[in-house]
Amino acid sequence: MRKRPLGQNFLIDLNIAQNIIQLAHIQPGEPVVEIGPGKGVLTQLLIREADSLTAIELDPRLSKDLQNRFGDTPSFKLIEGDAAKFDYASLGGGLNVVSNLPYYAATHIMKKLIHYRNQIRSMTLMLQKEVVDRLTAKPGQKEYGSLSVYVQYHCEIERLLEIPNTAFSPKPKIDSSLIGLTPLPQPKVQVENPKLFFKLVNSAFFHKRKMLKNNLKDWESLFNEENGKTRLAGIDLNRRGETLSLEDFADLANHVHTLTAA
Ligand code: SAM
Repeated sequence: MRKRPLGQNFLIDLNIAQNIIQLAHIQPGEPVVEIGPGKGVLTQLLIREADSLTAIELDPRLSKDLQNRFGDTPSFKLIEGDAAKFDYASLGGGLNVVSNLPYYAATHIMKKLIHYRNQIRSMTLMLQKEVVDRLTAKPGQKEYGSLSVYVQYHCEIERLLEIPNTAFSPKPKIDSSLIGLTPLPQPKVQVENPKLFFKLVNSAFFHKRKMLKNNLKDWESLFNEENGKTRLAGIDLNRRGETLSLEDFADLANHVHTLTAA
């Protein structure tokens, strides 16, 4: 059996727990969802702040303890299940999600939440520091990649707090960071065909060391030569994907869409 198969590194620093709750800016009347409440270190604080709290925990043993401890509070509801498979729309809208996410599934669960962005007002999420470095990376930084583009396209992202590994038991090898994600009412850039946009983005980063002209071979017939340079939508394809901003990717995708739409 894997060690700590459910990413169970419990937060033991109460000051940090309090800090996280403050940074989540829970407003009166707004529903809160906690993913992976574990031994309840955040739950016990959230239950005081939130008018309603739904907690989703996968581990049956922890779920039983949580139900025993908080089950009598009318505003609290525990769901024993997988947060990566949960239908968040069933909870209505305006959700504020707070979570110290399990490492093994952190990116997966975050993407699932972004999928339900219309139901969500805010997400306050703790993830591995190196994942947060990728989420917040700007063009030209080595951590910048398709995950950065995906999250920044859909959400405003703010780095809120750095948390050392000593704040957890058992102590993980790596540090964590807390981020705030606010789903945008409209994507950050205007894109005619989002599916094509993300196909281009994923292709552009497929081989990180390769130039765009090699990663974007599927669209080779649309390339043109200008001043001795291979270009698409005016973008020099000798560049690497990691140098392109969201606006550049939108220009590429909208140009390809116009050329290929029947
Ligand atoms: N919130 C607690 C804390 O801060 O100490 C626990 C955080 S611990 C990093 C992650 C928690 O998520 C564990 O309680 C684990 O059992 C739970 N978990 C793991 N995978 C899950 C999943 N797919 N859905 C819901 N909960 C999950």
